[in-house]
Amino acid sequence: MSDQCNVDITLDNSKGKQTMDTDPEKQVEDRQSRHIDSNRMKSLSAQPVKIAEPGKTTDVSKTSQDQPKEGLFRNVQIQFNKAADLLGLDASVRKILSSTENEIVVTFPVKLNDGSLKIFTGYRVQHNNALGPFKGGLRYHPQVNIDEVRALAAWMTWKTALADIPFGGAKGGIQIDPSQYTQSELERITRRFAFALGDNVGPEYDIPAPDVNTNSQIMAWFLDTYLSTVPPHDRHRNIHVVTGKPVAAGGSLGRDKATGQGVVFIIQKWAEDHDVSIDGLTFIMQGFGNVGSWTSRLLVQLGGRMVAVEDVTGSVRNEEGINPSDLLEYIKAHGGVSGYPKGQPVDHTEFMRIPADIFIPAALEKQITAETAKWLNVRLVAEAANGPTTPEGDSILKERNIELIPDILCNSGGVIVSYFEWLQNKRSESWELEEVDRKLLKKITCMYGRVREKARESNVDWRTAAYMLALARLERVYTERGIFP
Ligand code: NAD
Repeated sequence: MSDQCNVDITLDNSKGKQTMDTDPEKQVEDRQSRHIDSNRMKSLSAQPVKIAEPGKTTDVSKTSQDQPKEGLFRNVQIQFNKAADLLGLDASVRKILSSTENEIVVTFPVKLNDGSLKIFTGYRVQHNNALGPFKGGLRYHPQVNIDEVRALAAWMTWKTALADIPFGGAKGGIQIDPSQYTQSELERITRRFAFALGDNVGPEYDIPAPDVNTNSQIMAWFLDTYLSTVPPHDRHRNIHVVTGKPVAAGGSLGRDKATGQGVVFIIQKWAEDHDVSIDGLTFIMQGFGNVGSWTSRLLVQLGGRMVAVEDVTGSVRNEEGINPSDLLEYIKAHGGVSGYPKGQPVDHTEFMRIPADIFIPAALEKQITAETAKWLNVRLVAEAANGPTTPEGDSILKERNIELIPDILCNSGGVIVSYFEWLQNKRSESWELEEVDRKLLKKITCMYGRVREKARESNVDWRTAAYMLALARLERVYTERGIFP
C-alpha cells in the first residue's frame, strides 16, 4: 500500500509557491517581519490591542505544561503519549510536539448597538507548522479558553499530518455567546478580532476556517477585514487567508457539507467492511449544526434512519426515524431541536442510552466519558466532533467492544476540502462539485484504509493507529530537515 493518500493535484509552481519555508532561518526572518507589521497595526488601532510576539506566549498562558489537570489539552497529551511510546518517537520531536508553538491572546473593544463598549478576548493557538501553514477553525463559544484552544490546535496538527496535506495545526476563537449579539454586532466583533490578530494570520502562514458557531458569513467578514489591511494590488492574491468562505467570495463548492460528507464516506467504508448496508442502519446524532445536519441528511439519503437527535436546546427520539430536512426547517423557525413535534422529548441520559447502530457526536468535546460510555448502546462511535471522547471513555468503549473511528480521521473531510479551496484560490480556479467530492472520497477512503491497516499491523485501537501514522509523518520531516540551529 502507498505510504500516502495523494489525490490528483498537481501544483503549478508558477502561480505562487507555498512560502512556509523549509529553511528555519528564513522562518525566523518571516516571523520578525510579521511582528513589525503587527506592531504597525497595533499603533493604528484606536484602542489598545495585545498581540503576542510570534514565538512567545502572552499574559494568559505561560507554557503548554501549565494546563489545568482535567483540561482538554491533557486528553491530547494522553493520546499523544500512548502513540509516541508505541512508535518510539524521537525524543526531540516528542518534546517539540508536546507543546504549542505560538499562543496569541488579544483583547479588543467593540461598540454594541446600545452604544456601550465591550472588551472581548480572542485566542489563536498555533501548535505546529512543520508540514505547512498553520490551519484550523475559529470558534465562538462561552467556553472558549486557552486550554481548549491548545487541544483543538494540536488535533489539527495530527489531522493534517494524517491526511498528508501541506498544513500544520492551529485553532482560535472568542469567548462569547453569539446568541446574545445581533448580526451587526457579530460583524463588528469578527472584524475587530481579525484586525487584532493582524499578521499573525495570513494565506501562507495561518489560515482560519469555520468551527462551532461560526460559518461562511463570519469567514467573509474576516476575509474582507484582512484584505482591507493589505495593499490594493495584493488583495486578489490573499483570498486564501481563510477557507469555508461563501462560494461567491472565493469559497469552494462542497465545503459547506465537506465535514459531514467525509463522515458519511467513512461510515460507508465501515459498513462495507462489516458487510452491512447503510440502508436501514440506525444512528443517533448529537449536535445538529453544520456537521450534524449535513451528516444526517447525507446518511438518510443513503437509507440510514436517525432515531434520536440532540442539540443545546434538548433531545428528541423517534424509532420510525426523524427527517433531517424537516427538522432543519423546524430549527430555523424555533431555534433548536427542543419542542420538535414529530418525536418524543427525552432527557440527555435517556438520549445517550437509546439503542442504535451508530452514535455520532457532532457537538462539543468530552461527551463520552467514563460515565456516559457505559450508557451507549451502539456498535460504532463515529467521531464527527473534535475530542468528544475522553481517554477514560475510550477505555470503557474498548472494554465493551464498541468500535470507534477517531476524530482526526472521521471529521477530516472539512480540512481536506479547505485544502482544495486554498488550492483553487492560489490557482484562480473553481472546481465542479463532482470533482471536489471525487477527490475527497479518494483521499478519505485511502486514509481510512491506512488507519485500518496500521491498527491491524500494530494491534492497536484506531485512534492510536491514526496518531502513529500522523506522528511518523511529522517525525520524518523533522529528521530530514533537522532542528535549527
Ligand atoms: P455548529 O456550531 O454548526 O453546531 C454545533 C451543534 O452542537 C449545534 O447543533 C449545537 O446546538 C450543538 N451543541 C452545542 N452544545 C451542545 C451540548 N452541550 N449538547 C448537545 N448539543 C450541543 O458547529 P459545527 O461546525 O457543526 O461543529 C461541530 C463539531 O464538529 C465541533 O466539535 C467542531 O470542532 C467539529 N468540526 C467541525 C468542522 C467544520 O467544518 N465545521 C470540521 C471538523 C470538525
